[in-house]
Parts: sequence; structure tokens; C-alpha cells
Amino acid sequence: MKDGRQPAIFVSHGSPTLPLERSAAVEFFRGLGASLGRPQAILAVSAHWDTARPAVSAAERPETIHDFRGFPPELYRLRYPAPGAPQLAARAAKLLEGADLQPQIDPARGLDHGAWTPLLLMYPDADIPVTQLSIQSRLGPGHHVRVGQALRPLLNEGVLIFASGGATHNLRELSHQRGNPVPQPWVVEFNEWLADAILSQRREDLVDYRNKAPHAARNHPTDEHLIPLFVVLGAGDPAGATRRLHSSIVSGVISMDAYRFD
Ligand code: ZN
Repeated sequence: MKDGRQPAIFVSHGSPTLPLERSAAVEFFRGLGASLGRPQAILAVSAHWDTARPAVSAAERPETIHDFRGFPPELYRLRYPAPGAPQLAARAAKLLEGADLQPQIDPARGLDHGAWTPLLLMYPDADIPVTQLSIQSRLGPGHHVRVGQALRPLLNEGVLIFASGGATHNLRELSHQRGNPVPQPWVVEFNEWLADAILSQRREDLVDYRNKAPHAARNHPTDEHLIPLFVVLGAGDPAGATRRLHSSIVSGVISMDAYRFD
């Protein structure tokens, strides 16, 4: 179904308080759902579900997981009651199996905040079926490109591949920021390297970002928040367009950048 084709998207979800904030990134998320049109279903890949092998959730009614501590009570009252997508889960597992990626179906896993906080802003009616696919952070970027390549046919089937992590993610440096700090130069430098590499499709550089990008380890002390990007890098058509959909830096060190791969 050519008309209903969906892109693969990478977003930076920032703090769990995202739905309670007022920011340029929140405004971006509010407009993003409408700009994408209505997918048949959503396959969400979040940095916060990390397993040894690819797992996909077949939950009929995925629970809203409040996988964070010490935040305002109103955040714990928020729910994202979208229907599950067990058929999509089965289809995704089949595609991953075809690529020898040894997927598992999880019968019950709900949606963690990496998935539900941006989706709540994008599709507030919560009426589009959604399922979640796990990452395997120990297996690195190249493995996730292969996961994305295996899932590429889903885009033609009207499925939005929605990867949620962080273009930069150093929480220790975050805790050192006071007031309303300006973006740190080492964050800006990495963030712009990433944008340039994505927009010019320098795939090998991206996969080797820890060696190629400036200040890579300082922006990503661990890989898991950038890992979802590699799934959409694999899912997007190598000859297709890439676009930077949003760029902002909050609290001096957290990039909220988002990209679209067609
Ligand atoms: Zn996160």
C-alpha cells in the first residue's frame, strides 16, 4: 500500500516529565502526529527496554509503565490506554526470524515512558494500536541496523517505526547544570556531527560513532539512548531522504533532536 507508507522516526524523549512541560520540543511532538498522518499501527523501540534477544510485546492492552522515581504525582496519574498490536508483534517477530535475529514474543510487556510520553503528545486519543520492540544494547549499533533492515517491509504496510532515545544523554553532567544553562559546546559539537552524518547518510560513520564523533563517550557514557537511532537507520530506505524534524537542547546538555527516515 504505497499511499499509506509510513516513515521511520527517531525522537529524543528527554525527561519523563515531558508531557507536563512547556518547551519547543513539546510543541514539536504535539504537531508530529498530525504531520505523519494516521499509521495502521506503531512499532515503538525505546531505550528503556533492553533485553538479551529482540523481544516484541503481544499485549492486547499494554499497561502504562511508570518506570521512574521521584517525579510529581500527576505524572503517575497519566495513562496511555492505546490498544496493543499483537498481529504486528507476530509479523515483526516473523521478519526478525527471517533475518536470523532470534526474536521472542513477550505476552504481557506494557509501554515504558520512552514510548508512551511522546506518544501521549503525538496521538492524545490513544486509538492507534501500538506495540514495543526491545533493544539489545550490549550488541551495539551494527546489530540494530540489521534489526531495522529486517523490519523495513513494515513501513510499506502502514506501520510507523517509532524509535525513542536521546541524541545526547549524560545524566551525570545534567545534575551539574544550574538554572537555565546555555547549551554546552561539547554537546553542540556532537549534536551537529550527528545531524550532518544522518543528513548526508554517512552510515558507516554513524555505526562507528564512538570512534568518529567528537565527545561521543561524554555525550553517551553508555550506548542505550542512541541505540534506537540505528533501528531507524536500518529501516529507512538507503536511497530515501532523511530529515531533521526538530532540534533543541534543554538543561544545557540534553538534545531533543528528532529525525525522519523515508
Ligand atoms: Zn530515557
